[in-house]
Amino acid sequence: MLQFTHVPQKTPEKRAVGERAADFDEIYRKFDVQSAKLQSSRCSQCGIPFCSIHCPLSNNIPDWLKLTAEGRLEEAYEVASATNTFPEICGRICPQDRLCEGNCVIEKGFESVTIGAVERYITDTAFEQGWVKPIISAKELPYSVGIIGAGPAGLAAAEALRRFGYQVTVYDRHDRVGGLLIYGIPGFKLEKDIVIRRTKWLTDGGVRFELNADIGGKIPFSEIRDKHDAVLVATGVYKPREIAGPGSGLKGIMPALDYLITSNRQGLGDKVPHFESGLLDAKGKKVVVIGGGDTAMDCVRTAVRQGAKSVTCLYRRDKANMPGSLREVANAEDEGVIFEWLAAPEAFLGDETVTGVRATRMHLGLPDASGRQSVDAIAGSSFNVEADLVIKALGFDPEDLPAAFGEPALTVTGWGTLKIDAKSFMTALPGVFAAGDIVRGASLVVWAIRDGRDAAAKIDEFIQVSRGYAQAAE
Ligand SMILES: Cc1cc2nc3c(=O)[nH]c(=O)nc-3n(C[C@H](O)[C@H](O)[C@H](O)COP(=O)(O)OP(=O)(O)OC[C@H]3O[C@@H](n4cnc5c(N)ncnc54)[C@H](O)[C@@H]3O)c2cc1C
Ligand code: SF4
Repeated sequence: MLQFTHVPQKTPEKRAVGERAADFDEIYRKFDVQSAKLQSSRCSQCGIPFCSIHCPLSNNIPDWLKLTAEGRLEEAYEVASATNTFPEICGRICPQDRLCEGNCVIEKGFESVTIGAVERYITDTAFEQGWVKPIISAKELPYSVGIIGAGPAGLAAAEALRRFGYQVTVYDRHDRVGGLLIYGIPGFKLEKDIVIRRTKWLTDGGVRFELNADIGGKIPFSEIRDKHDAVLVATGVYKPREIAGPGSGLKGIMPALDYLITSNRQGLGDKVPHFESGLLDAKGKKVVVIGGGDTAMDCVRTAVRQGAKSVTCLYRRDKANMPGSLREVANAEDEGVIFEWLAAPEAFLGDETVTGVRATRMHLGLPDASGRQSVDAIAGSSFNVEADLVIKALGFDPEDLPAAFGEPALTVTGWGTLKIDAKSFMTALPGVFAAGDIVRGASLVVWAIRDGRDAAAKIDEFIQVSRGYAQAAE
């Protein structure tokens, strides 16, 4: 260990821009065994591991780095999977620069340990070697839990509850398992086989999935509540934030998630009418994406891969203040995306169909009460960007769940997210719990996993008390 003084940081090789922009495969190649060992050996094994503190799952990072450096990969996998349900997914898509790696103490002067890439390597190798064990329940219990939402929060909870022995059914309105892992995040960040492999692992472990099951739509929420001893709501946030202004109703202005779901479905082999008609296909088009988060970055890079003529991203703040991962911004820049920083749309141009966006330059002002700098338009700074497809990626708000579920007693916060008791994860409805984005607002996969695992532990406690049995004693 402590090799950081003379071994430089090396991330897994990135595929060349020309090659990777022509397909939807992941852009990073996997470490080979020597690189994984060498990069792990850079860890300083410091006394207070800030990487672990800043990992939402409190992963025992220095331990699995040391085991990897020593070539004890199966043990490294045991340690990595003890705290994380999907380490290979977090290793690929966590914004490590803001979490574990951003807080590595060798950062100053030496670049951080490549924690995410090693985490991915360990678990991919575990799958290849057959070390990933099936989910085994200590004992089958006669109690059941219904989980609404097959995203990372719901899936992490499902795994933990099966291990406790509960009968678990996960309901999702989509036809595939994974939530944003399958239909939001594109394959160049997370190949779909990785998600499908985990779906099989959960199914083999006894988790039942009911797909095309829109709870609060086709299926009343009360039916799910009556059927199970406890219910977990893990429905994520899906109401797109809208943009007002002249021309905002023109044809060719599309919501980001419609665009990404279409592209992901098409990649999974589905026939999608809006892709076939060209409405949600960027091929040959001048594309403008509005927004600066992960969703916007995924849209610009999807448009590049679909063969857009040009791709421009308009963001009202500057690069330093973007909410998206800086690593993904750098990847987008390499792939030819044009960034118009400090620029916000004023109007959409065109008669029936959009032909361009009129934007105005912005400047950053004084910080407000939250500490974030205000953004103000610069008078007389308008400019036009040509566009045949405009994608709105301004973020998401929660849907109105109390109305959809016909449960006015399901209380929400001022932002519309579900209110839960911080200790028990229970909503205002007894026996109904909530986790993931529907509680936090749009967040990260790693937080959804954390919440799902914690909620499962609380559901177990609740069922033990309400059904009068003791898990530990049996
Ligand atoms: C485009 C995009 C890119 C992102 N990139 C990253 C990234 O790189 N790294 C990262 O860490 N995070 C990223 N995120 C954020 C991350 O995907 C989310 O924080 C995470 O998926 C939240 O997990 P969840 O389980 O709470 O919800 P979701 O993943 O949204 O899953 C919720 C599930 O509930 C289902 N559902 C909703 N309502 C109902 C209903 N009424 N009945 C039945 N089912 C229902 C939905 O169909 C969905 O499958 C990204 C988000 C987006 C939109
Ligand atoms: S889960 Fe995310 S934050 Fe935690 S160690 Fe892995 S990559 Fe880093």
